[in-house]
Amino acid sequence: MSSVVIIGGGPGGYEAALVANQLGADVTVVDRDGLGGSAVLTDCVPSKTLIATAEVMTDMSSAAELGINFHDAQGDTATGIRVDLAKVNARVKALANAQSADIEDRLTRRGIRIVKGVGRLGKGEGRGGGEVVATRPNGTEESIHADAVLVATGAHPRVLPTAQPDGERILTWEQVYDLTETPSHMIVVGSGVTGAEFASAYLALGVPVTLVSSRDRVLPGEDADAATVLEDVLERRGMTILGRSRMQSVTRDGDTVTVTLTDGRTVTGSHCILALGSIANSAGLGLEEAGVQLDDGGFIRVDKVSRTTAPGVYAAGDCTGGFMLASTAAMAGRIAMRHFLGDAVQPMDLKQIASNVFTSPEIATVGWSQAAVDSGEIQADVVKLDLRGNPRAKMQGIRDGFVKLVARPGTGVVIGGVVVGPRASELIHPITLAVAANLTVDQVANAFTVYPSLSGSVAEAARRLHQV
Ligand SMILES: Cc1cc2nc3c(=O)[nH]c(=O)nc-3n(C[C@H](O)[C@H](O)[C@H](O)COP(=O)(O)OP(=O)(O)OC[C@H]3O[C@@H](n4cnc5c(N)ncnc54)[C@H](O)[C@@H]3O)c2cc1C
Repeated sequence: MSSVVIIGGGPGGYEAALVANQLGADVTVVDRDGLGGSAVLTDCVPSKTLIATAEVMTDMSSAAELGINFHDAQGDTATGIRVDLAKVNARVKALANAQSADIEDRLTRRGIRIVKGVGRLGKGEGRGGGEVVATRPNGTEESIHADAVLVATGAHPRVLPTAQPDGERILTWEQVYDLTETPSHMIVVGSGVTGAEFASAYLALGVPVTLVSSRDRVLPGEDADAATVLEDVLERRGMTILGRSRMQSVTRDGDTVTVTLTDGRTVTGSHCILALGSIANSAGLGLEEAGVQLDDGGFIRVDKVSRTTAPGVYAAGDCTGGFMLASTAAMAGRIAMRHFLGDAVQPMDLKQIASNVFTSPEIATVGWSQAAVDSGEIQADVVKLDLRGNPRAKMQGIRDGFVKLVARPGTGVVIGGVVVGPRASELIHPITLAVAANLTVDQVANAFTVYPSLSGSVAEAARRLHQV
């Protein structure tokens, strides 16, 4: 029986463990912080749970338009709703811990061994078989034989010497769930996906928000039309967005946090979230000694089947950079195990990855982008259809958002798409299916959609790309 040791119990690690176990390997997972990893304990699950409350707040703020008024117990009109952040955060943490426990239970029941501790590559690793050394919290060490190792150690938030989190008012995204009082003014530094999501969420929770963005617009990596819609909506709802504003430092004086920009301007608030990107957890693992190459940013180099440059050592997830998503981490981990254990492997196709920005409205994307079309990287037809014309959108009071489809000229094969709107993360799926199955715009257009439905706009966009 082949033995596999996995360092890191996040989605890259635990999903790989399940596949390796199914394929008959003897599997050990060495994990430092809890099964589910950052995805479950500090990043993905907690943030989306917080956002679930923010979504309800957003819906309730448009209740009046749909004919709903709030009244207090005496029947008098109530003018506002307020969030209890201590309660929200307690729910977030309880849910994350429960999910971590569920995953641990699932692995244990399948006979996968879990070692709580810090792992590193030991003797023989990188030569196609060797050992992993696990250091337990009490300092004792255990050497575990491994025919193959999967490194899935994730990443951690980047901070700067001039902007040090204190866990109380200057916060990384991992620390926000310790807040028990609602901030009076949240400053979010960084307008990538994480920064935009937190800025949007706290705004919806009723907190005044200033978003400090070093770029011309928020979400520089996303579809430009989508980012423009989001920026307009956030500003209309009262957010202050400082574009082309680079943070120099963040300091705290009592209850006041000051963000100083490189041009000398300052912004003051009660709290600040640093969303400055991620650093790979690749130090101290014995990688270089085993012949595992890292790129200039410290991320582990891997090929399409998750192999590193050292025989018998695979890597998956955030520690390898690229698309830093729970879904891609899990897929890369599964691919690694299938490859090592001789099962059929399909290398990951980056053009089939669906991703979502959980702002309000959401922005979901798959496949080729309009930017690639505009730059001439690929030839394609693009159509953009605003949601405001959709009957269901009108009924629900939805004005902001669109469906964009990208299709090959001539064949009409769908190769990409963007959806901006409420629950775009759900609406992107028909487009993802079309991209994965090489469906044409006519096939997408001719499949029935429910009337009235937002997905009707996906079919309508496809209809507009019909080639005559
Ligand atoms: C705020 C935020 C929100 C996000 N939301 C989403 C989302 O909605 N959807 C989505 O798909 N992705 C989301 N992501 C990204 C997602 O969280 C990551 O891509 C995912 O966690 C990567 O999984 P992983 O297995 O590579 O690493 P992780 O989840 O980070 O797990 C790594 C594990 O390895 C352990 N570890 C590290 N070093 C060692 C060591 N030496 N020995 C033993 N164990 C070790 C860690 O303790 C951890 O348990 C979000 C990220 C952030 C920051």
